[in-house]
Amino acid sequence: MKNRILPVFIPFAGCRQRCVYCSQNSITGHTSSEIVSSAEQQIKENLEISGNWDELAYYGGSFTCLPEKLRLKLYALAHGYGFEKLRFSTSPDCVTDENMAEAAAHGVETVEIGVQSLDDEVLRLNKRPCCAAETIDALKTVKRHAIRLSAQIMTGMYGENFHSFDATVDAVLSVKPDYVRIYPCVVLKDTELYSLWQSGEHISLPLAETLARCAYALILFEADGIDVIRIGLQDAESMKEQIAAGEYHPATGDMAKTIAVAIYLGLGHNLVLDKKYINTAYGYNGYNRETCEGRLEIKDGAKPDIRAICKRITEVESYKRYIQRQAAFHAERLVGSPDNR
Ligand code: SF4
Repeated sequence: MKNRILPVFIPFAGCRQRCVYCSQNSITGHTSSEIVSSAEQQIKENLEISGNWDELAYYGGSFTCLPEKLRLKLYALAHGYGFEKLRFSTSPDCVTDENMAEAAAHGVETVEIGVQSLDDEVLRLNKRPCCAAETIDALKTVKRHAIRLSAQIMTGMYGENFHSFDATVDAVLSVKPDYVRIYPCVVLKDTELYSLWQSGEHISLPLAETLARCAYALILFEADGIDVIRIGLQDAESMKEQIAAGEYHPATGDMAKTIAVAIYLGLGHNLVLDKKYINTAYGYNGYNRETCEGRLEIKDGAKPDIRAICKRITEVESYKRYIQRQAAFHAERLVGSPDNR
């Protein structure tokens, strides 16, 4: 059954500096009382919409960089509204054994770490708060406390190329988080990245390349047993208005999965599915429909199994090179049709 997470946004709360791609427009409050009152307001609004929530999440800031007193107030606020199960996102520079023990003691079951990249040069250029080794240490610290670990990575960052993205995927794989989220980097107005883009210093990735990298990472993570729980940015109007450059597509995740299925079918494998999932096999805009001809085995109750599909793909010899090439080929074709843009 789906876990219903009540999201509470504490934008930039605790962040020690601004990463170059992060928008400052969303700053809502800095003082402890502003942060707590804004959090409470959001909880009340969400509870008015629905009383059915399983968990509360503090997102959008660096939770463990907040002063201890404020963290304790935010835990107490959630508990006061009946939430015993919590999660938060935070920055790797503020993850310690002490604050993870504190989190576990307050009902935090999942911590989401903003990894973004594990290439030191990319981290430096993007003004991230710590280096790759420190980030890896933070991921391992979360795991030591038996808290579920979610790693958020980006693609298309300032200074990133395929090689550095691939190294990031490898390093994240070596830590084995429970979940991964993959976000394409877009250029938001009022960010340092916007000035870098205006001056020509930063060139954002075309949609096809973004999709190819997302599909590549999806296949490697899923094949290794790591759930990819999100690919692509949230479809929020307020955020879309802020995008100056960078390929934003609301169906990035569906398109990346479509590419994985296309590669699998291209290897000659069949898909075993219940009839009701045929459209999932056909993929985004029916991209795989033709390839599916004669390749679908209908079986009652059989669900699409992206993990099994990705595992089969990695059985190919020199699979990384193969996936990179195939993902690039299908991504180009997928965005090539005017319907798919
Ligand atoms: S990316 Fe994360 S750590 Fe960097 S400024 Fe934004 S919220 Fe803070």
